[in-house]
Amino acid sequence: MNSNVRVRFAPSPTGALHIGGLRTALYNYLYAKQKDGVFILRIEDTDQSRLVPGAEAYIVEALEWLGIAPDESSQRGGPHTPYRQSERAAIYQQYAQQLLDEGKAYYAFDTAEELDAMRQRLKEAKVANQQYNSVTRVSMRNSLSLPESEVKKLIAEGVPYVVRIKIPPKEEIRFEDLIRGWVKVHGSTLDDKVILKSGGLPTYHLANVVDDHLMGISHVIRGEEWLPSAPLHVLLYRYLGWSEEMPAFAHLPLILKPDGNGKLSKRDADRLGFPIFPLNWSDPKSGETSEGFRERGYLPEAMLNFLALLGWNPGNDSELFSVNELVASFSLERIVKSGAKFDIAKAQWFNQQYLRQKSPEELQAVIEEHLAGAGIPINDQKISGAINLVKDRISFSEDLWNESKFLFLPPSEYDMAVIQKKWDQETALFLENYSEKFSSLESYSKETLHDLLKEQLEKAAWGFGKVMPALRIALTGVAKGPDLMETMEILGQSETQSRIAVAIKKFNSI
Ligand code: GLU
Repeated sequence: MNSNVRVRFAPSPTGALHIGGLRTALYNYLYAKQKDGVFILRIEDTDQSRLVPGAEAYIVEALEWLGIAPDESSQRGGPHTPYRQSERAAIYQQYAQQLLDEGKAYYAFDTAEELDAMRQRLKEAKVANQQYNSVTRVSMRNSLSLPESEVKKLIAEGVPYVVRIKIPPKEEIRFEDLIRGWVKVHGSTLDDKVILKSGGLPTYHLANVVDDHLMGISHVIRGEEWLPSAPLHVLLYRYLGWSEEMPAFAHLPLILKPDGNGKLSKRDADRLGFPIFPLNWSDPKSGETSEGFRERGYLPEAMLNFLALLGWNPGNDSELFSVNELVASFSLERIVKSGAKFDIAKAQWFNQQYLRQKSPEELQAVIEEHLAGAGIPINDQKISGAINLVKDRISFSEDLWNESKFLFLPPSEYDMAVIQKKWDQETALFLENYSEKFSSLESYSKETLHDLLKEQLEKAAWGFGKVMPALRIALTGVAKGPDLMETMEILGQSETQSRIAVAIKKFNSI
C-alpha cells in the first residue's frame, strides 16, 4: 500500500446495515483498492442511546460476506486504534477545548425547557427556522451572553452544559463535491450545532471531522443524506486549522424505490417482498426478524456486481464485472448524481448469471446435500443431467433442487384437472405402446425418443399436442417443465417406463 488514499466506512451501529450502507462501503472499498490505498471501518457509536447490541458484529460480518473486509478496524487493528468512537472520548474533548479557547465554540447551559421556550417564542413570532444561531444565542444562557464570572461559577458548580459551535452568520461556506460540483451554503442558514454533549461525549459532527483528520482520510465517500452536514464539517476543518488537509467529498446518490418515487425504505422492501439487509437480522428491541439477501440465496459476487452498478455507470454497456474488474474500472467521476432506482429483478438476473458460472462440482454439491437429506442414493450421471436441464432456468441455488427434484422423486400427485380433459383410451394405448417400443431403440436418448414419438404420431395421424400434456404429467406430475425428451433421457429407460405404467393405471381409474 503506497498511495495516500485512505477512505473509511463509518456506520453507526444502530441496527442492521441497509443495502444503501453496503453500497457506500463497497464504493469506498473499490476506490481504495484501485488507488492502492487503505479502507477503514470506523464505528460511530457516540450516540449511546441509539446503540443496538449485535449491530457492529453484523456490519463486520456483512462486509466479510461481500468480500470487502476493511484493512483497518477494531477487529483488525491498525495505526489509529481505537476505531470505535466511544473509546476515543478524550481525543474529542481536547479539540472541543481548543475551539472554546479560540472563541470558535462556546458553553451553553440552557435546559431542555429553556430551549423549548425559545422555539415556541420564535414560532409565535413566525420565524421560519427556530434555530439556536447568531440572532437567538444572545438571549440564551451561554458563555457569549453571560459574564465570565457567571460562566466559571456555573461550571464550578457542576451545572450541565453542552459546547456549541459558533457559526459565522455573514459568510458563505463552500466546497467542491466530486460528484455534485460546488456546494455553497450561507452561514445565516446554519445553526450553532452542539459539538460536545453534556456527558462529555462528542456529537457526530465533531467526532467525524476529528477522526477523519487524525486517521488521514483523503476522501469522504458517503450517502447523500450527509450532504447538509458537510458545510458544518468544512467549517470545523477551518476552525481546527486543518483546511489544507481537508479530505475531498463525494456524496453518493440515494437508492430509490423501484418506481423512482422517493428513498427506498425497509417498509417498501417488505411490501414488495424483497430483502433490504445483506444478512438475516433479528431486531433485539422489537423482536422482528428480517431475511437477508444471503439467506434468500443471493451470491455475494452477484450482490457486489449489482450494487456496484446501482449508482455508478461504467461508461459502456458492460454489466458483468468481477471484483477485480470493478477495482480496475471504478471511478468517482462516473457516479450518477440522480437517485438510483432499486430493481430487484436486476439483482435476480445477476444472481442467475453468477449461478451459471459456478463449477459443476459446486452445483452438484447442492443437489447431493438434498439427496442425502431425503435418503436418495447419489447417481452422478443423473445429477449432472439434472444440472444441465435446469441450469438456465434458475436464479437461486435452491431452485436447482426445487426445479429438478422431480427427476429423483416420482410424482406423488398429478395435475388431474388437465388429465380429465386430455385423457382417453386412445391416449392410454398410445403411451403404453410408445413406452414398450423403447426396448427396440438402438440407443435410448432424447433424439431417438423424439424420433420414435414423431413416427408413432405420424402413424396415428396425431399432432404432438394430443399426447404431450398427458406424457409430461405422467412423468413429472405437472403440466409445465423443462424439455421432456431430455427429461426422459435423464430418468433412464426403466424409470421412464415405470412412471408411464403407474400413471396409466392411475389415469385409467378416473
Ligand atoms: N455515522 C454516519 C453514518 O451512520 C457516517 C456518515 C459519514 O460517513 O460521515 O452513516
